[in-house]
Amino acid sequence: MKVIESVQDMKKASQALRAEGKKIAFVPTMGYLHEGHLSLMKKGREAGDVLVVSIFVNPTQFGKGEDLERYPRDLEKDKRLCKGEGVDILFVPSAGEMYPENYQTYVDVEKVTKNLCGLSRPGHFRGVATVVAKLFNLVRPDYAIFGEKDFQQLVTIKRLVKDLNMDLDVIGMPIVREADGLAMSSRNSYLSQEERRAALNIYRALRAAKKLFEEGERSAGVLLNEAKRVIEIEPMVVLDYIKLVDVEMMEDMERVEDEALLATAVRVGETRLIDNIKLRKT
Ligand code: AMP
Repeated sequence: MKVIESVQDMKKASQALRAEGKKIAFVPTMGYLHEGHLSLMKKGREAGDVLVVSIFVNPTQFGKGEDLERYPRDLEKDKRLCKGEGVDILFVPSAGEMYPENYQTYVDVEKVTKNLCGLSRPGHFRGVATVVAKLFNLVRPDYAIFGEKDFQQLVTIKRLVKDLNMDLDVIGMPIVREADGLAMSSRNSYLSQEERRAALNIYRALRAAKKLFEEGERSAGVLLNEAKRVIEIEPMVVLDYIKLVDVEMMEDMERVEDEALLATAVRVGETRLIDNIKLRKT
């Protein structure tokens, strides 16, 4: 596995691979890797001839007072995990490489970033879209693999690729969960034992609403109330939002007929966690 730190070297490497006719699969991450990330890498291995993974804790997607400085990092362990998944190139640029002095260009994907996390984290998706556009220009992937854990992010990247006529396929992969249902996240490492236990209520609440939907309930108000009722059972879980949105535009729905995304963000202690579940008529 080749580890690349500079933008120039990454460009050269991808140019060489493309000249050989190799199809590049790419998994962008912020590191502190877990099984969720590894599932994306497995998909990437299948999809392309070479697998590129990036680890970059992107400062422009963090707001003031968020956890940029204390975001968990363990590059040595991440390298081992990447090697284990057969990663060919690990790209680990510094913030200075990605945003040199006088950097001033940003990508703004408009409508789909307005709701959900866009409301509670102003500027977040602008940072995400910008860094992903930059990474795509450096890596020049044929396939990029993202997790449905960050569903709004996945929709945003699909939009970016379509609107800017980028020549790659964006592949979405299902949420990987711990055995007890908690969605895997690098931020789970912040949780105390007690918070970890309380956080189980998030997926419980999503499932409770899904169950009602499967029993025939179609009113978003009723479905959301059921999810809120379950969340409130656990006082340590403080709701940021819980919403039912359409899966393409991320707009609030009043009734769910065929399909919707039930998405939530909560705070458990100091830790912000997100999760979602799809409701789909069978
Ligand atoms: P992050 O390192 O948290 O920025 O995540 C990098 C990629 O991994 C994103 O595409 C995430 O959606 C994806 N990811 C994170 N957690 C999970 C999970 N539990 N299941 C599936 N994909 C995930």
